[in-house]
Amino acid sequence: MSVPETLLPTACATPPVRFERGQREVFCGLTGIVWLHRKIQDAFFLVVGSRTCAHLLQSAAGVMIFAEPRFGTAILEERDLAGLADANEELDRIVGRLLERRPDIRMLFLVGSCPSEVIKLDLGRAAQRLDRAHAPGVRVLSYSGSGIETTFTEGEDACLAALVPAMPQASAAQETQLLVVGALAEIVEDQFRRIFAELGLRNVAFLPPRRAGELPPVGPNTKVLLAQPFLSATVAVLERRGAHRIPALFPLGAEGTTGWIRAVANAFGIAAARVTAVTEAGERRAQRALEGLREELAGKRIFMFPDSQLEVPLARFLSRELDMQPIEIGTPYLNRDLLSAELALLPAGVPIVEGQDVEAQLDRCRAARPDLTLCGLGLANPLEAEGLATKWSIELCFTPIHGYDQAADLAGLFSRPLARRARLRV
Ligand code: SF4
Repeated sequence: MSVPETLLPTACATPPVRFERGQREVFCGLTGIVWLHRKIQDAFFLVVGSRTCAHLLQSAAGVMIFAEPRFGTAILEERDLAGLADANEELDRIVGRLLERRPDIRMLFLVGSCPSEVIKLDLGRAAQRLDRAHAPGVRVLSYSGSGIETTFTEGEDACLAALVPAMPQASAAQETQLLVVGALAEIVEDQFRRIFAELGLRNVAFLPPRRAGELPPVGPNTKVLLAQPFLSATVAVLERRGAHRIPALFPLGAEGTTGWIRAVANAFGIAAARVTAVTEAGERRAQRALEGLREELAGKRIFMFPDSQLEVPLARFLSRELDMQPIEIGTPYLNRDLLSAELALLPAGVPIVEGQDVEAQLDRCRAARPDLTLCGLGLANPLEAEGLATKWSIELCFTPIHGYDQAADLAGLFSRPLARRARLRV
């Protein structure tokens, strides 16, 4: 399947979207640390939070026994919360001790939480102070991973947005740069680097970088290509630095990956024949790998709770490349601009629901009895107990799913819970 040219860069009619408000059932932005700490290899994420925050991180990421951890929690005790201790002094002391013990750290993120926000601890100012104190060896930045009215992928968005002011200014004379934005597994990043090199693009950079010292420059000659759909804040700050976003599908599945690459080629004026030559082998490989999985998944009905903000591109992939039937596409937020190409490819008439009223959604899900439900961890166990097969949406952020060679792995995330349930029934 290939992407019709007309669907590439422009917004088509947006399908109707219902907005829902009520109780939400999502993880907070601290969760992003679980994949971000693996990505920027000389960074450390210091959560300034409570024991609850520490427990969330440890249960989501596991305890690192053999390696030096690259994240930790500075726990706000009752004295800090009651305003009896100077939390800034404490923080300076903890950061000083950490950096002394860990000279490998080149970038330190102070990550805000609900408790640090409740006591109005200004981590932005603390980061500026600590940045001056530990320059030039260590860069200190801050962002919020607080759970108030957020969803877990917003942690990555806030982290990348915090990196943008630290990026050098690109000179006007610089060759136009392609900046791929969004944390990707290294193996996927390497595959995309090779594809862009084959297209003849010489100036390609990724955000976040693998090392703190490799922050790419940004400026009016930067074209931004999003690898993830949940990066609204990061795009906004990049655009304020003069960068331009390339509207595109997201690289999920064969069709999405080709659409993504073709959008870049259009933006850089690369001939269609060259794009076909570069993409056709990968696209065919992905389509072949999906064939068996399509047999398993075709006709299966899927209900998507709003969680990762990946729901819209996933629904496009599952419906068009695996013939699944989305019966409700929930998404915590819907950025119609970033997702315009995706929305245009969704099956007609499928309900799209932005926001969450979890009880009402649970009622609809139970009534629909879908074959598979995509949801957060908190909903998965109760639904499994009611006989519904589920898939944890957070796995989509831990697993390499982008690009041609990961298309079957992505489909496998959806076929495995069905196969397991079928085995249990035997
Ligand atoms: S930041 Fe807030 S929601 Fe997240 S673990 Fe800490 S207290 Fe809980």
